[in-house]
Amino acid sequence: MPELPEIEVLRRSLAPLLPGDTIESVRVTNASLREPVRTRSLARVKGRRIEALRRRSKYLLIDLSGDSTLAIHLGMSGRLTLVPAAAPAEPHEHVSFRLRSGRRLRFRDPRRFGLVLALPTAGLAADPHFAHLGVEPLERGFSGDVLRRAADGRRGPLKSFLMDARIVVGLGNIYATETLFAAGVHPARSVGRIAPPTWDRLARSAVAVLRRAIAEGGTTLNDFADGEGRSGEFQVSLAAYGRESEPCHRCGHLIRRLVQAGRSTFYCPHCQR
Ligand code: ZN
Repeated sequence: MPELPEIEVLRRSLAPLLPGDTIESVRVTNASLREPVRTRSLARVKGRRIEALRRRSKYLLIDLSGDSTLAIHLGMSGRLTLVPAAAPAEPHEHVSFRLRSGRRLRFRDPRRFGLVLALPTAGLAADPHFAHLGVEPLERGFSGDVLRRAADGRRGPLKSFLMDARIVVGLGNIYATETLFAAGVHPARSVGRIAPPTWDRLARSAVAVLRRAIAEGGTTLNDFADGEGRSGEFQVSLAAYGRESEPCHRCGHLIRRLVQAGRSTFYCPHCQR
């Protein structure tokens, strides 16, 4: 499923192409996504100019004139692409925005776990989709200290802690697994028993893993593509995720798999203690 780096790649691919354009019409052909598309509230974006593209966690935010923001979540299988307005509709194209420039921004989502919302820009932070979200790891202010303070008084395995979006967003299963490998920390370590230098190393590793994934165009394990249909390359750089019984790139020991809270975790028994 697309995670933070994939949405950032999508944002960067569309950011030079969309601002300045105007939404001329909106078409909803299937409103039953993870939450029903509110066709009437979406119709309000008609006639608005696209101002800027931002990202919050796994939401792409398209800021429009008149205090309006389109928030789009790709769910498991969503794709947002820019095509000529006359391009034939494709299967699973549930929502599309026709632009004044003669292009169409289309949202396809075979599994329909995605979201397309129109929200007041000023109310985003308080909106229930966003209010609970933790810190952005790629923004200033993220550090080992932030993690250490959030861990204060908590127990449980480190990997579940890192994957908790109320603490820090963007570390889904793949990137939490890679962060732990990069930091050399065992995924089952208790959060209550981690020293400050280790928190610093985890924070630095998370940032490095996410930046590298973005630089490589995201991870294409579930059919991810950017706004112009290009897929990413980061899956070939995965050091631990999906590599059970393959040798660790650092030490040659075989990568092991462990199931935590129903999710597979991969780690090197020698490098991650
Ligand atoms: Zn190793």
